[in-house]
Amino acid sequence: MDVFIEPIGRLINQFSKLPGVGKKTAQRYAYKIIGMGEAEAREFAESIIYCKQRVKYCKVCGNFTESDVCDICRSRDSGTICVVKEPKDVIAMEKLHEYKGVYHVLHGVISPMDGIGPNDIRIKELLARLNDGVKEVIMATNPDVEGEATAMYIARLIKPLGITVTRLAHGIPVGGELEYTDEVTLSRALIERKQI
Ligand SMILES: [Zn+2]
Repeated sequence: MDVFIEPIGRLINQFSKLPGVGKKTAQRYAYKIIGMGEAEAREFAESIIYCKQRVKYCKVCGNFTESDVCDICRSRDSGTICVVKEPKDVIAMEKLHEYKGVYHVLHGVISPMDGIGPNDIRIKELLARLNDGVKEVIMATNPDVEGEATAMYIARLIKPLGITVTRLAHGIPVGGELEYTDEVTLSRALIERKQI
């Protein structure tokens, strides 16, 4: 990195921390910033701080929100809960304009290989939400090994409570992610969800 003068090297290092950004791309980003006017560069930097200050997790569902409880939790029918791995999966589902219930974000999936057990993700918080009004829990974790295992684990805990547990239908490529599934396929997987 010492071929760059210190301030540029430092900026390249920061961009290198982003997912999918290698040294070459980080260098391109840094040069782009240097080419910006001061106001534009300041807005860029301030938007990072602004995001960090304003965005928090919804106390109910765990999704990103600006208030204690998110708009979806406050305004939707809580009789159906769609369980997803990450906040970005909520976006994938919302883009369908098909689902009218609420969500529960686990912030991970059970993965013994990575040392992530049931207590490391938000399963307790999900169980605490299951009152009389909840009719269905849709397991919408990704159709990979960890996602399937997590769906089955949670289904075993919930079914004795007399709540219907469903899983998104197949059609999402095995090993694929909700985020990268096209909307028609994901829509169909939701509509044709199967009881587990
Ligand atoms: Zn919420």
